[in-house]
Amino acid sequence: MINPKSNQELTYMKKAGIIVALAHRAAQSVIRDGITTNQINEIVEKTIIKNGGTPSFKGLYGFPTAACISVNSVMVHGIPDDTVLHDGDIVSVDIGACYKGYHGDSAWTYAVGNVSEEVNALLEIGEKSLFEGLKMAKAGNHLTDISHVIGEYVFGHGYSLPRDYAGHGIGTSVHEDPTVPNFGPAGHGILLEEGMTLAIEPMVLAGKPQTRLLPDGWGVISKDGKLSAHFEHTIVITKNGYEILTTTNEEEHPTNG
Ligand code: MG
Ligand code: MG
Repeated sequence: MINPKSNQELTYMKKAGIIVALAHRAAQSVIRDGITTNQINEIVEKTIIKNGGTPSFKGLYGFPTAACISVNSVMVHGIPDDTVLHDGDIVSVDIGACYKGYHGDSAWTYAVGNVSEEVNALLEIGEKSLFEGLKMAKAGNHLTDISHVIGEYVFGHGYSLPRDYAGHGIGTSVHEDPTVPNFGPAGHGILLEEGMTLAIEPMVLAGKPQTRLLPDGWGVISKDGKLSAHFEHTIVITKNGYEILTTTNEEEHPTNG
């Protein structure tokens, strides 16, 4: 059972979303050759707290830090550490913030300095796959109408999607029903209703879809060692479409670079 959110609940979720967006901006502003993933995490955590939120991921299932920071072939759930970023790398930053008990969740993959055309193409298709999927996010559509469009778009550009990772409902918990797959047939799952809140998050792999867990038990890396990108927004379904919650009012979403 997926309950649409009340206006009061949506007010809190919007605030949580703005905090997430501000933390992304802060992270993006420091991403450059020579910075460590620990340093990025510190800035994310400080920004969340400074703006009246708490980091959703710290302690969630035992995850140790505010942000998941995943470099190059690491797809999701990377634990920040002393890893130094270098020109030409890509880094996925996944941030969750909680405000008055309601969560926002957004991930973005950023280029470090100058990346190759090939890498830029992966980032562009990954980002676009999120927005292509969102076109199907509206009241009256089936949940997997979103999934289908994301999958067709990503596969159509020669990339792959992991089998076991998906988007999710979100509200008083970071992860709620329903699971939102990133591929598969359209026309299945719940009927979307105004007020439902979802985190849509394609993870796009440059190589094969298989992944494996890193020895730390958290990081998920592509098995073939090829690059991986991750783009996620928390949205609310509206009468005619959707509204992105993990954004500030001045921008639709963070940009790469
Ligand atoms: Mg996330
Ligand atoms: Mg998520």
